[in-house]
Amino acid sequence: MTSAVIMLGPPGAGKGTQAVRLAVELGLPHVSTGDLFRENLSNETDLGKLAKTYMEAGKLVPDDVVIDMLFGRVAADDCNGGYLLDGFPRTVAQAEALSERLADGWTTRTLQLDVPDESLVERASGRLLCKDCGNIHHEKYKAPAAEGVCDACGGELYKRADDNAETVQERLAVYHNETKPLIQYYDERGTLDVVDGSRTPDEVFNDLRGLLSVSGAPGQEVT
Ligand code: ADP
Ligand code: ZN
Repeated sequence: MTSAVIMLGPPGAGKGTQAVRLAVELGLPHVSTGDLFRENLSNETDLGKLAKTYMEAGKLVPDDVVIDMLFGRVAADDCNGGYLLDGFPRTVAQAEALSERLADGWTTRTLQLDVPDESLVERASGRLLCKDCGNIHHEKYKAPAAEGVCDACGGELYKRADDNAETVQERLAVYHNETKPLIQYYDERGTLDVVDGSRTPDEVFNDLRGLLSVSGAPGQEVT
């Protein structure tokens, strides 16, 4: 059965870190709307220019814009066998658009990373990203061996413009207002699994992998 796997969680919950690993594990493309917007930003496309003000303020880009971009991306051949969504849907309107689009024979699996608000600002505002491979470090929790240099590939590390304490607070507020209702949305449809995202990345990954393993039985151990 073809699946759209949805990663749900507040900013700083570790969605990106886990999505990259899970995508490799599952052999599915990792489709991150945040990454798609950042690509458009650095290429200075019209879409990038439109998204910029919203992103820098920690606000959501309007639904119709995001939905168009996302549907364009998942129409590509590499998504025919399923894909892993990171950062989409973020509103009920986006979730409804996705449900409508997914034809018969597609299932959705929703994985929610649960992390208490207290840790999120520090997690997100200390984040360092690799320009070359997308690897995610953290100033305090996962400091690179050499300052400013990615452990994985030697690329240059940078800080996202919206990863400052003030904007992270705003993104968190937006998450509570707009995105949290999706927990209920997917729970009602029976596709939701919740994982405690406050543990180590390896522990979280093991749980996620277990949930997605062959039979897909929740809580199943993977050896
Ligand atoms: P986070 O680290 O908070 O999960 P992302 O990298 O997913 O952030 O997204 C960065 C920004 O891009 C968001 O704050 C928002 O402005 C915009 N964005 C990404 N995905 C969406 C979406 N599905 N709907 C609206 N805006 C989005
Ligand atoms: Zn790198």
